[in-house]
Amino acid sequence: MDLVLMGLPGAGKGTQAEKIIAKYGIPHISTGDMFRAAIKEGTPLGKQAKQFMDAGELVPDEVTIGIVRERLAKSDCDDGFLLDGFPRTVPQAEALDAILQDMNRSIDYVININVERDKLLERLTGRRVCRNCGATYHMVFNRPKQDGTCDKCGGELYQREDDNEKTVANRLEVNINQQEPLLQYYEDTGVLQTVDGNRDIDEVFEDVDNLIGSLSE
Ligand SMILES: [Zn+2]
Repeated sequence: MDLVLMGLPGAGKGTQAEKIIAKYGIPHISTGDMFRAAIKEGTPLGKQAKQFMDAGELVPDEVTIGIVRERLAKSDCDDGFLLDGFPRTVPQAEALDAILQDMNRSIDYVININVERDKLLERLTGRRVCRNCGATYHMVFNRPKQDGTCDKCGGELYQREDDNEKTVANRLEVNINQQEPLLQYYEDTGVLQTVDGNRDIDEVFEDVDNLIGSLSE
């Protein structure tokens, strides 16, 4: 079960990842966790990554890819893994294929949780915060009883600058453009599986589960 999970912000990727690892017991490998672990262990690559991060610079591909290679070689990945947040670019995807090929393995599925842009916008801009007590609400998932008013203290609810439609739409556009060539790459290599993420968490997971389940048949 060598899996890559993809999805735009707001697609519910994190929730699906949790469900996958809970059911299948494969390690969840996110870029952030991988860097933190390599730095903590003090591996040569971890030390290099730390230097770039401390300097506020992007960790170069060769270092990132080296860290991925070391991580995938660990024994907890013997039966599979769920990569999340890597690869982000086509060169990284090519490097990942090469790493796996050296291990006589290959990606089984790239699962893309696909959600319509408008729905993502709705999810990502829905947060409201109480000016008085800081309680948070969501206009789709956790509505206050009365629009604009905090249930707990009666304070005024507002939308953070980060959550406004224009900021979110711009951020989303960047992500969509980044993701496109990667999706095309995996479409071309024949491992891309698109799951309709416009539905309830459990319905989405049913599809994800069916896909992964089909690998062990
Ligand atoms: Zn409040």
